Amino acid sequence: MTPTFVATSRCECQASLSAQLTEQRFVVSGSALLLGKRELAPAHSIFPEREVFDIGWLCPFCGRNTLRTFAASALPRVGRPAA
Ligand SMILES: [Zn+2]
Repeated sequence: MTPTFVATSRCECQASLSAQLTEQRFVVSGSALLLGKRELAPAHSIFPEREVFDIGWLCPFCGRNTLRTFAASALPRVGRPAA
């Protein structure tokens, strides 16, 4: 699946969290970056069909479940929707 959006946020531990999302805002993959080290971070979207929805990450650095709210229309687009 080709991601079309990317959502980014910051964990309490200062890791940079990112998630690549499909056009329907389902998570394709998640990762976390801390002090130059990148790790996979399991992530999922909650009510992705809504304009305002949440993404939860399990941060691999501190073990927190980090939940962040995003506005769908404000997500940066990284690719084209599948035709
Ligand atoms: Zn963290």
